[in-house]
Amino acid sequence: MRYYSTRGQAESVPAAETVLKGLAPDGGLYVPAETTKPLTLENLPAGNYQQIASFIFKFFLADFSSTDIEHAVRSAYNLETFEHPAIAPLKHISNKLYFLELWHGPTCAFKDIALQVLPYLLNTAVHKNSDMRKVVILTATSGDTGKSALEGFRDVPGIKIIVYFPEKGVSEIQKQQMITQEGSNVEVIAVQGNFDDTQTGVKQIFNDYILSKQLSEAGYRLSSANSINWGRLLPQIVYYFYAYRELTGQGAIKPGQRVNFVVPTGNFGNILAGYYASRLGLPVNRLICAANRNNVLANFINSGIYDRRRSLHISLSPSMDILVSSNLERLLFEITGHDSQRINTWMKELINTGQYRIDRETMIKLQELFWSDYADDEKTLQAISETYQNYNYLIDPHTAVGKKVLDNYMARENDPSPSVILSTASPYKFTGSTVRALFGSSRFKDISELKLINILAGETNTPVPKSLAELDQKPVKHRQLIAPEDMRSQLLETLKID
Ligand SMILES: *Cc1c(COP(=O)(O)O)cnc(C)c1O
Repeated sequence: MRYYSTRGQAESVPAAETVLKGLAPDGGLYVPAETTKPLTLENLPAGNYQQIASFIFKFFLADFSSTDIEHAVRSAYNLETFEHPAIAPLKHISNKLYFLELWHGPTCAFKDIALQVLPYLLNTAVHKNSDMRKVVILTATSGDTGKSALEGFRDVPGIKIIVYFPEKGVSEIQKQQMITQEGSNVEVIAVQGNFDDTQTGVKQIFNDYILSKQLSEAGYRLSSANSINWGRLLPQIVYYFYAYRELTGQGAIKPGQRVNFVVPTGNFGNILAGYYASRLGLPVNRLICAANRNNVLANFINSGIYDRRRSLHISLSPSMDILVSSNLERLLFEITGHDSQRINTWMKELINTGQYRIDRETMIKLQELFWSDYADDEKTLQAISETYQNYNYLIDPHTAVGKKVLDNYMARENDPSPSVILSTASPYKFTGSTVRALFGSSRFKDISELKLINILAGETNTPVPKSLAELDQKPVKHRQLIAPEDMRSQLLETLKID
C-alpha cells in the first residue's frame, strides 16, 4: 500500500515513510492509495481489541512485518498501559445509546490509543529506512495530545520529543500533567497565545527548508506526532470496528445493521478515522460531527463554506478549540476522488482570504454521511448534568458536547439507528466543569481542579484513574514560556545548533 499527498506534488511513498515524515514535502497530508471496501466485516478476526488492531494495521502497513506489527500492538495495548482490559470498553447507557470509553490509557484521553502505539511504528520505520539521523518529534497541543505524546515517547532511544502548549487554552490538570513530565528525552514549552498560534508555529518550522537543511546537517530529522501523521489516524480506525463488533456480540444489532457514531471534534482526526472505517465497509449510518462554540466545522458541513475569519473562544472543551481543522483536507481529497487541484485551490484560498467554498457536488457527498451541530458551554454543562441525573453516568465536557449534539440530531431526524458516542476524556481530567455542572458554580468555588478530583470522587462514587489520583504530588520539571516567533530559534538552542 502506497500513500499519496493531498496536494499532488510529492511522490507517493510506502507506509514507513509517511509515519516518519508526518507531513508531505509539498505541504499536503498523506492518504492511503486504496480504501474502497477492501476489508469486509466477515474477514475481521473474532477476538479482542489487540487482534482487530493487528488485522487493520497489517492491511495499511503493508511494508511492516507481521512480527513488528504484533510487537507494537502487544506493547501498546496491555494492562500496564491501559487500566481496562477491554482497552476501549463500550458502555450501554440506555436504549440505543452507547458510550465508547476511549480514555483508559495513561493520560486519560483518547489520544493515548494512537500515541501509545505510534512510537513503536516510528521505531520500525526508522530502522527500515536505515537513516541514522536522530528523530525529533515536534508537537503542538491543545491539551491532550502533548501529554499523551510525552507518555508515548518518553525514554524511547534515538528519539527526542518537544511539546509546545498554548499558555492560555489548556486546563489546570492538563498543564500540571505536562509540566511534571518525566523522561530524559522530553522538553515541554509554553507558548504565548492560543492553539492556532502554537500549531502555526510548528507548521512553519516544518515548512522551513533552510531550517530543515540545518537540522539534517546536525544529524536530526523532524517528525510529528500531531494527527496529521497517518500513524496517528490508523490506530483510531480500530476502535470503530471494535465498537461494532461489541454491538453485534452483545446482540444489540444484527450484522450489517447501520450505526451512528458521534464524535466530539477539533482537528478532525478522530472523526476522519470513522470515515475511513466506513470506506472500509463498516456499516455506518451517520458520522455526527459535534463541535463546541468554535463551530467552524458545523457551519462548513451545513453550508459548504469553510470560514475561519472569527476569533477563537476558549471553551469548557479546550481540546476542541480549533479554527483550522487540518485533517479536513484529507476528507476533501477523498470525497473529490483524489482531486488535488481542487484541494490546492481551496487551501490557498483559506490561507489568502480565510475562507473557501466547496462545489455543490462535493457538498452533497459530504452531507450524505456527515451531520453536524454544536453545543455552547451552557449546553455542555446541561448535558453533563442530565446524563448524570438520568443514567448515573459521569461524562467530561468534550463527551458532553457529543451528547448534546446527538440530542439535537435525534430531535430533528427520525432515526431508529443505535448511536455510539465516542467518550474522549475522563471526567476527572476536567473536574472544574464537571463539578460546576453537577453542583452549580458556588459550591466548591475557588477550589483548584486538582483538589476537586477527590471531591468529585467522594460525591459521585466514580473511580479516579490512577495517574490523575497521583498528580498533585509530582514535582514541576518544565517552566519555559516563549513567544510564537521565537519557536524556531528556541528549537536550534535546545538542539545546540548555531
Ligand atoms: C483531541 C481531543 C478531541 C478532538 O479530537 P480531534 O481528533 O482533534 O477531532 C476531543 N476530545 C478530547 C478530549 C481530545 O483530547
